[in-house]
Amino acid sequence: MPDTSVEQGQHSRVFVADIGGSYIRLGVSDRPRSVRLVESVPTPVDSWEAFGATLEALAARHIGETRSPLVISMAGAIDPASGVICASNVPCVSGRVLGAELSSRLKRRIRIANDADCLALAEAVEGAGAGHDVVFGVVLGSGVGGGLVVGGRVVGGASGIAGEWGHGLSVSARVDFDGMGHAEPVMALRCGCGRVGCVDTIGAARGLERLHALLNDEQKDSHTVLDDWQQGGERARRTVCAWLALVSEPLAAVVNITGASVVPVCGGLSNVAPLIDALDAAVRKRTLRRFRERVVVPGAFRQDGGLIGAAIIARQDDWREP
Ligand SMILES: [Zn+2]
Repeated sequence: MPDTSVEQGQHSRVFVADIGGSYIRLGVSDRPRSVRLVESVPTPVDSWEAFGATLEALAARHIGETRSPLVISMAGAIDPASGVICASNVPCVSGRVLGAELSSRLKRRIRIANDADCLALAEAVEGAGAGHDVVFGVVLGSGVGGGLVVGGRVVGGASGIAGEWGHGLSVSARVDFDGMGHAEPVMALRCGCGRVGCVDTIGAARGLERLHALLNDEQKDSHTVLDDWQQGGERARRTVCAWLALVSEPLAAVVNITGASVVPVCGGLSNVAPLIDALDAAVRKRTLRRFRERVVVPGAFRQDGGLIGAAIIARQDDWREP
């Protein structure tokens, strides 16, 4: 029997939210490939009561009495078995069965999705990864994130955090700064997760700054380092040379392991096109498969990837049907 509920779901209105450590952004999508931001309010990060009340007020203002579901994109690991979230940037929700608790408070179906998964899904379905079956979406924001999408669906896995390449994979400890085959040691840094040498310690904006300080004994923000690099500064050249070597190696391993044919990059560092170009060249040098086409590409969505991915999830899932 044809599943008409899916067809109806494709075209009905869904609500989405992107919750970060600073803002809650609520959006509405009336049809696929269209999301409109309706309101943005500061995130209450320390009070669960204030957090719930803020979402309740947003829902009352914009969603009203309709049965429309709400999919929330936010940073954090959600245990697939228990639904318990661990979210370091919004401490008041950490340890809660957030989806169920909010569903009961707001009296509608609510699903929480990892923000990197939402970004990866947006890129895979509607963005820079469209047309590819296996897409590995990378986030290089303040930290390193990632999401794996196969056949247009997020792969969460048993842990719910499949695609999380920022921790666990150790970066190489030696870098050939001059391309002459004389690799120099680079000290592995301790990671917030307790391990040493995770990609997250050097891979995104804060990591680039740490790497620059370690190699050059000077503090500069990532924008300045990347500006200096583009203007030919020697210290910045060393930093970016090390960054490319240290990040491309684990990323090439991820491409080998997942079978991804495209890696869209989102987050602050993705705005620096020459850096993403150089990362693509470095990754393709290291993958087992010889890719003729680009693999690492800038993501298509600068601002609203989280909302777009959440809207795709809202339309995909059976949970939203009565
Ligand atoms: Zn780590």
